[in-house]
Amino acid sequence: MRSRPTEPVTKLEVQQIVKRFSPAQPAAVDGVSFDLADGEILALVGPSGCGKTTTLRLIAGLERPDRGLIRIAGRPVAGERVFVPPERRGVGMVFQDHALFPHLTAYENVAFGLRGRPAAEIRATASEMLGLVGLERLATRHPHALSGGERQRVALARALAPGPALVLMDEPFSSLDADMRLEVREQVRGILKEMGATVVFVTHDQEEALFMGDRLAVFNRGRLEQIGAPEALFHGAETRFVAEFMGDSDFLRGEVGAEGVRTALGAVAAPAGLLPGAAVEVALRADDVDFRPDPAGNAVIARRIFRGAFNVYRLRLDTGETVHAFKEHTEILPAGARVAVRISAEHPLAVFPLP
Ligand code: ADP
Ligand code: MG
Repeated sequence: MRSRPTEPVTKLEVQQIVKRFSPAQPAAVDGVSFDLADGEILALVGPSGCGKTTTLRLIAGLERPDRGLIRIAGRPVAGERVFVPPERRGVGMVFQDHALFPHLTAYENVAFGLRGRPAAEIRATASEMLGLVGLERLATRHPHALSGGERQRVALARALAPGPALVLMDEPFSSLDADMRLEVREQVRGILKEMGATVVFVTHDQEEALFMGDRLAVFNRGRLEQIGAPEALFHGAETRFVAEFMGDSDFLRGEVGAEGVRTALGAVAAPAGLLPGAAVEVALRADDVDFRPDPAGNAVIARRIFRGAFNVYRLRLDTGETVHAFKEHTEILPAGARVAVRISAEHPLAVFPLP
């Protein structure tokens, strides 16, 4: 074997995979590559139809790639001359709809994945897994008598019980209520980390991806736009798509000058490699912008959006551009009021060349 114990083990390698369902359609997955280290959670995130589920199904062996190579724990499972069927890939899967067997109890659902092993081992492992997800007391209940969150934890215990090399999760929380979702995802992340599971986690929700992922892979139209740590993706978007998708950015027109990028809100630092005179866009989020009432200001309040603990203000700059900014709920300003807007961010802002 090539891998030595002192090196971090690569659990999953995806190299240049392509999947096209019909010649008339663009490829659903179009040359995607990434690696997962042992014990890492990767969140695949992107809008509906961008190829997340297809990527997961290719890894699981539920689809065959047209091109590319997939290795799990060093072993090729899909490639030009190899195709290992799903049941022999050592992957555990958790989907949105739980897909528990309704006629089996929670315990029996978990034990199902262990069939074929010695009875004592099945008992010990199934009980241990139910304990891990905090459901020992509900072991004899059937799915209909469990809450959505409890069912999701049974599904997770069932996927983890056989000790898979890799866990694949496709929008596992999307059938839960919003408040339940926050609680369950925190529990599930804790369980996965305690197990040291290696996980590919699919979601269309950027906030959920930031919470779940050790790293995020942002997909757009079948391609991987950017992969990296949550903070790196949030603050260091390399494409306009990532800046927009990862957190409601506004874009200000700018031009590269000697003192940086000139915008309607003053100059901001220019990234290296842009020539003077280049037309660019600067990505701004609501926490990068500050404003105060000022009859001689450079913008008017277009709208106040109440968010409970704070308000988001939509500000129309005199240039016609729009930015958003936060204010505490204690300071309410009316639509139509003239304000002075400035950039308050202390970190470098993402800047994208315009074509
Ligand atoms: P996501 O999970 O990101 O929403 P999918 O991977 O499900 O996206 O789909 C990616 C694209 O591939 C979509 O355009 C979808 O319509 C298409 N697609 C997915 N599965 C099939 C299939 N079995 N047959 C034909 N087209 C498919
Ligand atoms: Mg999907």
